[in-house]
Amino acid sequence: MKAATWSPRKLLQTKRMLRTIFRLFMRNQFRRVAVILILAISSVLTLTAARTECDQDFLCIHEEKTADRVLLHAENPSPYPITYSLRVRARNMTSGRPKTVTRTLLAHESHLIMTLSKKHKNARGKYRYDYDWTIGNQHAVHDDQYVYRMPYASGKSYRVIQGYGSRFSHTGLEQFATDFLMPEGTPVHAARGGIVARLEEANTVGCWRAGCGAHANFVIILHEDGTTGEYYHLQRDGALVDVGDRIFAGQEIALSGNTGHTTIPHLHFAVYRAVDWGKTQSIEVQFDTADGTIERTRRGGRYQATPLRQASGERASGRYHLTN
Ligand SMILES: [Zn+2]
Repeated sequence: MKAATWSPRKLLQTKRMLRTIFRLFMRNQFRRVAVILILAISSVLTLTAARTECDQDFLCIHEEKTADRVLLHAENPSPYPITYSLRVRARNMTSGRPKTVTRTLLAHESHLIMTLSKKHKNARGKYRYDYDWTIGNQHAVHDDQYVYRMPYASGKSYRVIQGYGSRFSHTGLEQFATDFLMPEGTPVHAARGGIVARLEEANTVGCWRAGCGAHANFVIILHEDGTTGEYYHLQRDGALVDVGDRIFAGQEIALSGNTGHTTIPHLHFAVYRAVDWGKTQSIEVQFDTADGTIERTRRGGRYQATPLRQASGERASGRYHLTN
């Protein structure tokens, strides 16, 4: 979404000045006309222009331009923290700061990213930038004491096809993600409670090429420590919750599928912390199983989900929406 606006005050001033010039011209006061014309031109040159570009109601970049500087602001209109990276390439303009920034914006927060100023006033300044973002706080400190539920119904177990440290596709940032083999339409349950911050359920395609990841359906739950629990490859219309819903650990949240970067119906689950350029770093977490707590998931393992602890009060919370 793009929009260009001109400062109304400047427009009014310019209009008034043009009217005066016209009037003076009619009275043949050429010398004064010349002076005022110069003033008018310089006024037009210092007109401020503003432009805003938003990506999915999560990150807006505002540009505020004058003749020799540009202010770049970032705004997060959503009620969830996001982490963005932005890189500027400029000619004859400098901010005196690094050209690439990665910063976290809390709910509804905005800030000045940088001010670009012309190096040589008489030469033309040029700039462009690119950016990416993801849900979550880059400074989140994971609560390592938390024991997660298996992300499916109590009493059920599904074979792990990629556990921690898998070398197939869960390398690098994904090293602590787990893939559970399950038929499409299998109920997916929250491994930990939190607030649904983002979801996608319109996709239908699953494939194994570069770019297939963009076709994934998913549910992202923001945990209270600022990390996220993410559930991928869900079936079309497979989200059973809405953005803003507060959910409890063990709640049924989705139906599994085979969308996105995938070769076989399965559920990809991991806990993440936001890093740069829209990427996320998976975090090593422990799980509660019918056979006790496990420190890691292993390929070939089948872990039975424990019954919900009704006494913990987790069940009673139900659904409600964020108010801020
Ligand atoms: Zn996976």
